[in-house]
Amino acid sequence: MIPIAKPYLTKDEAQAAYDTILSGWITQGPRVAEFEEKFAAYTGAKYAVAVSNCTTALHLAMIVAGIGPGDEVICPSLSYIATANSIKYVGAKPVFAEVDPVNYNLDPADTERRITNRTKAILIVHQIGMPADIDTFQAIADKHGIKLIEDAACAAGSSYKGRKIGSHSELVCFSLHPRKVISTGDGGFITTDNEEYARRMKLLRQHGMSVNDRVRHESSKLIFEDHVEVGYNYRMTDIQASVGIQQLAKLDWIVSERRKIAENYHQAFRHLDMVRLPIEKEGFYSNYQSYSIFLKENCRLSRNDIMQKMLDEGIATRRGIMTTHRETAYLEESKDIHLPASEMASDRSIILPLFIPMTEAEQQKVISSFIKIIAG
Ligand SMILES: *Cc1c(COP(=O)(O)O)cnc(C)c1O
Repeated sequence: MIPIAKPYLTKDEAQAAYDTILSGWITQGPRVAEFEEKFAAYTGAKYAVAVSNCTTALHLAMIVAGIGPGDEVICPSLSYIATANSIKYVGAKPVFAEVDPVNYNLDPADTERRITNRTKAILIVHQIGMPADIDTFQAIADKHGIKLIEDAACAAGSSYKGRKIGSHSELVCFSLHPRKVISTGDGGFITTDNEEYARRMKLLRQHGMSVNDRVRHESSKLIFEDHVEVGYNYRMTDIQASVGIQQLAKLDWIVSERRKIAENYHQAFRHLDMVRLPIEKEGFYSNYQSYSIFLKENCRLSRNDIMQKMLDEGIATRRGIMTTHRETAYLEESKDIHLPASEMASDRSIILPLFIPMTEAEQQKVISSFIKIIAG
């Protein structure tokens, strides 16, 4: 059976976790601080704030961006549901805009059309690792005096215009879930150049506590903490961070290996006139967190039939990215929402296996099976 994905973890990560466990310091402490420094250096941002996952990263980003009840934030419906949920956590309303059906990212023109006097921010998503056109969205945000926030859950290691994702806008949120390209089991980051944002997010992730555990532990003088605002427990542990430090050191290699597999798929499928393949425009560099293929109208088999036939051959696939507005939790408020491009992108896409290490034989099996099945 060829799986859809698997995390690339080795003895390095196991040893690092082992060492941390025996060090006596297992939750947020020196390893988290080291991972933050390394993640900031990697992305090129001034600060990186480690948290428990990308959903909590997005929640903190919404808070420091000053988004609250009555506000609207424009985001894609075509995304993992956590994107829109994070807007709800602060009492604001997600307003869904359409996507480009080829690269699955927000459509700038449709996004701008949906801006009202209640809009406070645009939450772009670098969907399955393909960067959105950040400069275009930043220009729209600046023109309307609103904020730009990036959901880069899938985009660690991707680049836009020669710089790593994480260094472009004020609030960029990452995930380290096993379905992403590097993982700590669960984990997340917010990168920012804004010192005040970084300070406040570090406070909020640890119950709003004025003095963190490490400072108190290392102080020779007696210090007492105060809880200066109502915070959360969104900490990453040192066990996770020690694994993450090992993963981060391999990230560029992992991305280059993933890109070789994506290139093999691209070469094998580019002559098929029943599919549309992901397109990496000049200046856009994807980590290929997923390889998703769009099935055109002239494709004779349904998406589900293709998935079942692939499964019969021992190959796991996944359907396209979900649409949030069609999930039960959003149905009530979505009665009047029409997003045909997003629905089509979701319903007519199929995600193929892509993981490290994937053997030549495994890649060849996926390629020949897909070509055979799609030809009917
Ligand atoms: C995975 C994902 C999330 C959630 O990340 P977690 O770390 O699991 O909370 C949010 N947004 C997008 C686009 C994702 O793909």
